[in-house]
Order: sequence, then C-alpha cells, then structure tokens
Amino acid sequence: MSAHIGVTGLAVMGANLARNLARNGYTVALHNRSVARTDALLQAHGGDGDFVRTETLTELVESLERPRRVLIMVQAGAPVDSVIADLVPLLDDGDIIIDGGNSFYEETRRREESLRAQNLHFVGVGVSGGEEGALNGPSIMPGGSKESYDTLGPMLEKISAKYNGEPCCAWIDTDGAGHYVKMVHNGIEYADMQVIGEAFDLMRSLAGIEPREQAGVFREWNTTDLASYLIEITAEVLEQEDEVTGRPLVDVVLDSAGQKGTGRWTAISGLEVGSPVTAIAESVFARSISSQRELRAVTNATFSAGIDETLSATEKYGSAEDRQDFVEDVRKALYASKLVAYAQGLDMLVAAGEEFGWDLDLKAIASLWRAGCIIRADLLDTIMKAYDAPKDQQPKNLLLAPEFNEAINECLPAWRRVVAAAATYGVPAPVFSSSLSYYDSLRRDRLPAALTQGLRDYFGAHTYQRVDKEGTFHTQWSGDRSEIDA
Ligand code: NAP
Repeated sequence: MSAHIGVTGLAVMGANLARNLARNGYTVALHNRSVARTDALLQAHGGDGDFVRTETLTELVESLERPRRVLIMVQAGAPVDSVIADLVPLLDDGDIIIDGGNSFYEETRRREESLRAQNLHFVGVGVSGGEEGALNGPSIMPGGSKESYDTLGPMLEKISAKYNGEPCCAWIDTDGAGHYVKMVHNGIEYADMQVIGEAFDLMRSLAGIEPREQAGVFREWNTTDLASYLIEITAEVLEQEDEVTGRPLVDVVLDSAGQKGTGRWTAISGLEVGSPVTAIAESVFARSISSQRELRAVTNATFSAGIDETLSATEKYGSAEDRQDFVEDVRKALYASKLVAYAQGLDMLVAAGEEFGWDLDLKAIASLWRAGCIIRADLLDTIMKAYDAPKDQQPKNLLLAPEFNEAINECLPAWRRVVAAAATYGVPAPVFSSSLSYYDSLRRDRLPAALTQGLRDYFGAHTYQRVDKEGTFHTQWSGDRSEIDA
C-alpha cells in the first residue's frame, strides 16, 4: 500500500497529527528515530485508520506516493536539519518536505532556499493548538511555495480546525511566512495571558476578590466582547482546588512562568523590523521577572518593609458597589490592552511582509486563528471585518478601524483608572500600562523624540530635521551654537 504522507517524529505532536490524518482517510506512513515510539502509537491507536509501519527513513520514503510528502515533527533546531540531511538523498525532484514544528522563521527561510536549489519543496508550517488541536483539528499556517500548497493544501485543510465549516488553514506566503505568522500568534498569546494575569492580580490585590469568586467573574466576561478560549479556561483554572491542601490551585502553583522562546523571538523580530510590539515584549519580560525568584525573595522583603498599599486599596474598593465598578473597569482595561496586543501583532506582520517580501493577508490570517488555536476569540471576527477591504483601503492600524476606535474610546476612562490604581497601590500591570502608553503615544501630535534628537545631535552630531523646512541640520554645540546644513 502506498501512503499519502509520511510522518517522522512521533512524540505527542507528530503522533496526534498522524492520527488526525489517518482519521481523515489518509494512509499515513510512520517513522520515529526510536522504533519503540512507532510501535507504541500503533499499539494504542492503530485502529484510527490506515498506517504503514516503517523502521528507517528509506522505508518511509519508499512507502510514499509521488510527489512524496514527508512531515517532520521532531524537536525544533538541529534535529530538523539532521533529519532533512538524511532525507534529501532519498527524495526526487518535486518531493515535499514539511516542517510542522515550532521552527524559527529564519531557519525555515534558510532551509527553504537550500532545498529549492536541490529541486525540493520545503514547507514550514505553523501548527497551533497543542496536542489536542493536533489530534482534533489545529489552526495551520503553511508557508513555502504556492505550487507545493496545491498538492499539500487540501490535506492540511482537511485535518485543520473548522470555524463555521471553514478550514482554519490557508497558504500564508513563501518560505518562512507560515512560521513567522505562527510566531506572532504565540507572541499575541503571551500578551493575552499576561493581561488576564494582570486583571486577576488587580481584582484580588485591590478588591479582595478570591480565585473561586473570580472564576465566576471570568465566566461572566466570557459572555462579553472578551469571549475567548483563554478567558474560558481561566475560569476553569481559578476554580480548581488543590487536592492536597484544599486551597485554590493557583495559590500552590509556583509563580514562575516558563517559556519555550516563541514570545522572545516575536519581541526580537519586532525590534528588528522596527515594529513596537510593546505588549508582547512586556509579557516576555514579565515572565522573565517571575522567574527571578531568588532576587524577588530579597527585593520583596527589602522593598515592601513598612509599606502596606494593599490594605488601603482593599478598603477603597471594599463596598460591593465599588468592587463591581472596579471589576467592570478591569474588564475594560483588559479588553483595551488586548486590542493593543493584536494591533501591534498585526502591524508587525505588515512590517515583516515589507522586510521579507511577503504579501500577508491580515483578514485571512485572523480567520485562521478563529478555531483550533490558543488565541481563538470572538474578537477575530470583528478583526476580519476591519480588514474586509482592498489593501489600500484597510486601516493603517487595527485601532483605527471604526469599531475598535469606538471600543477603545468606550474603555479609555476605565483603562486610565485601572492603570492609575495599579501605580497608586503598587500592583505591577506592565501590559495594561505599557499598552496605554502605546495608545497615548499614537494619540500625541508631538512626542519628546524632538528632545532625543537634540541630545543626539549634541553628543554625537547625529543631526536632525526641522518641522518648518526640508533638509538635515546640525547645531554647532561646542562652537557658537549656530545651525548649519549637515
Ligand atoms: P519534541 O519533544 O519537541 O521532540 C521529540 C521528538 O523529536 C521525538 O520523536 C524524538 O525522537 C525526535 N528527535 C529529537 N531529536 C532527534 C534527532 N536528532 N533525530 C531524529 N529525531 C529526533 O516533540 P513534540 O512536543 O511532539 O513537538 C514536536 C514539534 O512541534 C516541536 O517543534 C514543538 O516545538 C512543536 N510544537 C509542540 C507543541 C506542543 O504542545 N507540544 C505545540 C505546537 C508545536 P525519539 O523518540 O527517538 O527521541
């Protein structure tokens, strides 16, 4: 029997994608570096569909119909290069190698270029949704050549998540575009989780609302314009009781957030393409600070000595009415900050498109995130509407779309009150506050960057431009301070 596709790397993601493909009627050839994993998969789930067991890459390749499609699902980084190196001599012109792992987009660009020169297609595919998504339908963001998508696309669309029957899978653009979009998705996910954490902390620290009660608040919020998978599961996590102590689980989990690197990549790429993804970067930094536990143990004792802002705040928001108002303010601050994170992520895609020569369709990208992935949210439908116009008529920033402009105006007073309360009572809210600063920066006619330019010209003769005439100028600071054309 010749298989439609081969999967090499059968840890949790590879195994579940292979099962998903088989359940959708494809014959899937299976391979893993250690055969035990292949056999374990076949033993546990061999009934999911038609599988071909192989022990070597040669057997895997020989079992495939042409053009061959080989999906690599091994650990990101050097293992991907090693598997590609082993595969290439076994393949023929026009065959397709697919990398469905979380590879760094620059590596995908490099691999695609090298394999294209060898007449092979290389498709970097962003796959979102974790192990459950991989099995039941992930959000899929494929890059690579358009030609390879013609062969591969129908298969990926079939196994992808569906939103109102539409597949959450579409060709993004060439080489690393798929992995880039997946990376930005993850960056937005970091910000999305961070703003939820900030809302939780503020409601507890300033209004004394305990986790179990907050589960109800988040459940209620999930019926508003915040409705999303992450808000939904926040309620689940907050009401979870620790089996050992009977306390809320969040109170016994170490407050040190892990990261695998995609948020950091997004922040770095934002800096590189000159796109201010402050909400994403602050979310990455917030995780870094949370991991500095030894330092925090010392600073907590030293900096908090003799200060009790929290007590006075709890008194301030002590009445039921005040608490209710505060909770609504926090909801609005959360929504506005979340919109900023999305606006920044989408802006970054535009900047990256210019940098790497991709023509990214923001409406289509938003559509892919509506099901199967972690940031799925009702908001994405509204984002799609905002970009439902020819490119030259689309808003220059998501927040300029009339519906979002209105939403921010509606949230703004509450957002300011929450950020002010956080600062007044000493509760860290890095994304709430930096997002508000970003928004205020966009609102301002003039920014203090004029002074920055003056300083740069003073110490480094970096020159400046003027508001009233064309040209580049320098003030002779160490001379008679007259201005000259530079
Ligand atoms: P993983 O733990 O990242 O990798 C384990 C797999 O890689 C095993 O099959 C292992 O083979 C194989 N492997 C490692 N080094 C190898 C090498 N040098 N040569 C050949 N095979 C090698 O697996 P995963 O969690 O399923 O993730 C796979 C990819 O999907 C990663 O890029 C990951 O970042 C991405 N991803 C994961 C998730 C998730 O929720 N876990 C979500 C989205 C994307 P052996 O069995 O022989 O050790």
